Amino acid sequence: MADIYNFKEAEKKWKEFWENEKIFQFDPGSKKKIYSVDNPPPTVSGKMHIGHAFQYSQMDFIARFKRMNNYNLFYPFGTDDNGLPTEKMVEKMNNVKSKEMSRKDFIKLCLDTLKKVTPDFIQDWKNMGISADYNLYYSTIDPNCQKLSQKSFIELFKQGEIYKKEFPSLWCPECQTAIAQAELEDKEQESLFSTLKFSCEGKDLLIATTRPELLGACVAVFVNPSDRRYSKLIGKRAKVPLLNFEVPIISDESAQMDKGTGVLMICSYGDKYDADAIKKHNLPSKVILNKDGTINTGDYSGLKIKAARKKILEDLKNAGLIAEQKQITHTVNVHDKCGVEVEFLTTEQWFIKILDKKQKLLEQGKKVKWHPEFMFKRYENWVNGLEWDWNISRDRHFGIPIPVWECKKCKKILVPEEKELPIDPADIKRKCKCGNIAEPETRVFDTWQTSSITPQIIFSLVKTKLELPCSLRCNAHDIIRTWDFYTIAKSLMHENEIPWENMMITGFITLGGEKMSKSKGNIIDPRIVLDNYGADALRYWAASYKLGEDLDYQEKDLVAGKKFVTKLWNANKFTFMNLGQYTNKKPKKLNKTDEIFLNELNKIIINSKKSFSEYECHQIKSEVDGFFWRSFCDNYMEIVKGRIYNGTEEEKESAKYVLYNSLLSIIKMMAPITPFITEEIYQEYFKNNEKDKSVHISNWPEPFKIEMGKENEKIWQKLVEIIEKVRKVKSEAKKSMKTEIILTLNKEDRKLLDECLPDLKAVTCSKNIKEGREFNIDFA
Ligand SMILES: [Zn+2]
Ligand SMILES: [Zn+2]
Repeated sequence: MADIYNFKEAEKKWKEFWENEKIFQFDPGSKKKIYSVDNPPPTVSGKMHIGHAFQYSQMDFIARFKRMNNYNLFYPFGTDDNGLPTEKMVEKMNNVKSKEMSRKDFIKLCLDTLKKVTPDFIQDWKNMGISADYNLYYSTIDPNCQKLSQKSFIELFKQGEIYKKEFPSLWCPECQTAIAQAELEDKEQESLFSTLKFSCEGKDLLIATTRPELLGACVAVFVNPSDRRYSKLIGKRAKVPLLNFEVPIISDESAQMDKGTGVLMICSYGDKYDADAIKKHNLPSKVILNKDGTINTGDYSGLKIKAARKKILEDLKNAGLIAEQKQITHTVNVHDKCGVEVEFLTTEQWFIKILDKKQKLLEQGKKVKWHPEFMFKRYENWVNGLEWDWNISRDRHFGIPIPVWECKKCKKILVPEEKELPIDPADIKRKCKCGNIAEPETRVFDTWQTSSITPQIIFSLVKTKLELPCSLRCNAHDIIRTWDFYTIAKSLMHENEIPWENMMITGFITLGGEKMSKSKGNIIDPRIVLDNYGADALRYWAASYKLGEDLDYQEKDLVAGKKFVTKLWNANKFTFMNLGQYTNKKPKKLNKTDEIFLNELNKIIINSKKSFSEYECHQIKSEVDGFFWRSFCDNYMEIVKGRIYNGTEEEKESAKYVLYNSLLSIIKMMAPITPFITEEIYQEYFKNNEKDKSVHISNWPEPFKIEMGKENEKIWQKLVEIIEKVRKVKSEAKKSMKTEIILTLNKEDRKLLDECLPDLKAVTCSKNIKEGREFNIDFA
C-alpha cells in the first residue's frame, strides 16, 4: 500500500488499464439502452487548449454517469481536419503559402503534417481521462467522411436545396476565399470619417464615409425622400470628387437623415447594404476590388485597400475636396479565422437554402433540450438574424472536393453516382449528354458542410442500427451559430429530425476576468496544469462551475482539486487500516449513529442522480465534496473510530458496514469527475469484494434501505453541532482534543441524542454526559 498517492504513476497505469481491458468500448451486442455522445471533433491545431479541457470534461462527466447507470455508451472520437483552420496550421508549421503551391502538393503536405501531429493531439484527450471509445475514430478528411459529405451534397442538390449563384458575397481578402455569415466576428476599430465634396450642378454635395477608396466603385447616391435639404436634387446627377464621373441621385427611404450629412454613397460593394441597394434599384455594379484585396482603379491600381485609402485621402486633401474629418470608433466585420476586415465580392458560389426554413429551424431548435435553457435564445437570435443562404464553397486547396462537373455548353450540372464517392471531379473526365466534355468544379467545401453531419458520421462507424437524435452534444456557446445551427439544419433536411436530444453549452475560460488569447499572452496550457496538478484536479476544477457561465481560471481551484484527491486517498487508507480484510457483510442491526449517517448519505445519493440527470455536474460535485469533507471525514470517521476498537461485535459490524459502504458510495459518485483516484482506490481496496472490473462500469449507488425521515436528519445535525461545539471550546482553551471532559446537555438535546450517547461520549472524550439547564463543558 503506497503511502502517498502518485498521480502521475496512477494516471498512466489506469489509462493503460482502461485501454487494454476495453472498459469504454461500445458493445454492439449489449441489450442495454444506448446513450450516444456526438463529441464535437476538435480541430487539430497541435495542442489542446484549456477551453477544450473544460468542455470535454463536462461532456465526460455525463458519459461516465450514464455508463454507471446501465446505459450502453456509444461515444466515438473524431478530429476535425479539413478546411481553413488546418490549412492555416500547415502553412504556419511549414512556413508555406497554400496559394503559392500546387493543389496536389499542398494536400500532400497537409496529410503528412496531420499524420505527424494527430496522435499527440488525441493523447491530450486521453490524458484528461476523456472516456471516449478511441477505436471508433474518424477524421473529417478521411475517405468515409469525404464520402458522407459528398453524399449529403448530392442528396440536397437533387432535392433542389442547393444552388450555384453569382452575387456579391462575403469575401476574406487575406484567406482569399468566400466565407459564411457564421464566420463573421465584430471588431471595434478606429477609423477616419471623412466628409467629401461631391457636387451637383456646380454646388457642393457633402457625403461622409469611412471608405473613400471605394469612390471608384460608386454607382449612385441616396437621399431620403422626406429630406427637404436634398429633395430638389432627386433625379439629378452627382459628380464623384477626384474621379469626376457622374452617378444618379436616387430617393430611398433607407438613407437616414440624421446620419452623416444625410446623403449616402452606394458602392459595389462596401457592405451588405450596398449589395441590397444595388439589387433593389437595378444599378450596374462597378467592382474595383480584386480577390487578393487590391484595388483596380486608375492611379490606385495594385494598392491594397488600406494603402489605397491613405493615398486617395491625400489626393482628396490636396485637391481641397475634404470638408471635414474626424476620428471615430466603430464596429467592423472581420473574418474569425484571421481577424482581417471582410469585403464583398461578386463571385460564383454554391449555397444551401436556409432562409426559406427559418420557421422550421426555430421549431427544431426548440425540440432540443438546452442545458442551460437560456442558451436557446442565442440560437433563436441567430436564426432570426440570418441574411444569406449558407455559402458552402471555398476557394481553397485543402478540403473535400465539391463533387460536380458543369457543361459550359448546355449549362447542365453533373453529379457522380453514390458508388463513385469519394471523388475528386478534377481527376475524372465527364461527358455531358450533349456530347461536350463537362468542366470539373475545383473548389472545396466549407468545413461546416462536413462538421454538420457528425451524427451521421459516427453512426456510420458501426454496423449497429442507430437513429437520430443522438443523446448528447456539448460545446461552447460560440459555436451555437455555426456547428449547432448547421447540424440542426442538416438533420432537418436529411432526416426531418433533431440531431441531439440534449445539448450542454459551456462558457468561456477567462484569466483575471479577461478572455484568453494568444496575442494577449494570457494563455493557460492544460498540459502544464496536468503536469502540476493531474487530470483529476483539472476535472475537479471543471466541475466547479455552472454550465453556460464563463469561468475564471484560478490556481486555487486546482489546489483544491489536488487536496481533495489527497484527502480521498488518505481517508481510504485510514479506513482500510481499521477495516482490514472486511467482506461487506450486512449487520443484523444498525447502530443509531450509523443509521442517521446513512440517512445523510441517502440524501446525497438521491440528489446526485437527480443533478446528473439534469446535466448539473457542478451541483453534485459540490454536494458530494462537502459531504465527504465535513460529514464523513470531520465527523463520522471520528465518531466510529472508538466503536471499531472498543465496541461489541455487533457495534463493530454496524460501523464497519457503514464505513465501507459510505466510502464506496463517495468513490462512485465522484468517479465521473475524478476518474483516476477513484479507480485507484476501487482497485486497491474494494475490488476484492465488488465484482466489477472497474469502478467506471460498476453501478451507481442506490440509497440504503433505512427509514428516511426528518427525525434522523435532526438527530444528525444536533450530533454534529455538539461535537463541533466541544471541539471549539477545547481549541479555544488550548487543550488537546483528547482532553477528558464532563459534558452537560439540556434535557431536550440529551433526549434527542439518547441512542447516540455512547458514540458522542467516545468522540468528545466525555467521562460523563449529564443533563442540565444548558450546554456546558467542564474539564475533568
Ligand atoms: Zn480570413
Ligand atoms: Zn452539355
